[in-house]
Amino acid sequence: MKLLASKTAIVTGAARGIGEAIAIKFAEQGANVAFTYVSNGSTEKATALEQKLIALGVKAKAFQTNAGDYAACEIFVNDVLKEFGQIDVCVNNAGISKDNLLLRMTPEQWDEVMQTNLKSVFNMTKQVIRPMMKAKTGSIINMSSVIGEMGNAGQSSYAASKAGVIGFTKSIAKELGSRNIRCNAIAPGFIETDMTGYLKDGEGADKYKAGIPLGRFGTTDDIADVALFLAGSSSSYMTGQVLSVCGGLNI
Ligand code: NAP
Repeated sequence: MKLLASKTAIVTGAARGIGEAIAIKFAEQGANVAFTYVSNGSTEKATALEQKLIALGVKAKAFQTNAGDYAACEIFVNDVLKEFGQIDVCVNNAGISKDNLLLRMTPEQWDEVMQTNLKSVFNMTKQVIRPMMKAKTGSIINMSSVIGEMGNAGQSSYAASKAGVIGFTKSIAKELGSRNIRCNAIAPGFIETDMTGYLKDGEGADKYKAGIPLGRFGTTDDIADVALFLAGSSSSYMTGQVLSVCGGLNI
């Protein structure tokens, strides 16, 4: 029996990187998947992923939706409900970084990171809890970061947004636990994606790896496996938790 059979999941920011791996993992386990991306440059990738998921035998659809835009999220969730009939799992994964030292950071850079990384989580969660409350079940998974727990020079906006995700996650867990809606966060360490492309090779990469007890960067599958655990019934007595998936970087 597949772990997410007859479930419908939303994954934001899934045209590439961690979101893509989660969408594939969920579909392999029988979930229907509605996913978002934002840029025109990712349309081809999103269409290819949609086809890949459908080939796995589930229903899947890509939506070009800005997760930072409240009205767009409302339309998206309504469309998903019309087409899929239910929403059991919501993975708030969409995120960006605009790293800069505070001295040089502009208010626009700060706002963009907050809107994409934190407001998006409010936008989407606010929409999905209605159908989840009706169904008396749901799992919300928010993508934080070890940087939100540890802080990092040059990443104050990113760290603040990801720490905000943790506070939001714990609050929603308390608000909605009695409705059997769970809300947990994942805090990845350095995961090999476009976002961390700058870490790929050379001395810089070795320096970062030296600080990771497991001695390697993570893969998108490392995160997708934990998302699958939080989405399904194996974690049914867990809410308000932050699972660090970082090779021990934060200890
Ligand atoms: P990525 O490879 O850069 O992919 C980001 C995805 O998010 C893309 O599909 C992008 O869409 C989408 N996205 C960005 N802004 C969006 C918006 N406003 N609305 C909808 N989608 C949007 O990033 P990643 O490394 O997979 O990261 C995924 C999540 O994990 C992020 O929240 C990130 O902060 C978090 N994280 C990553 C790492 C890491 O080491 N990689 C570590 C800790 C936490 P387009 O394709 O259309 O641009």
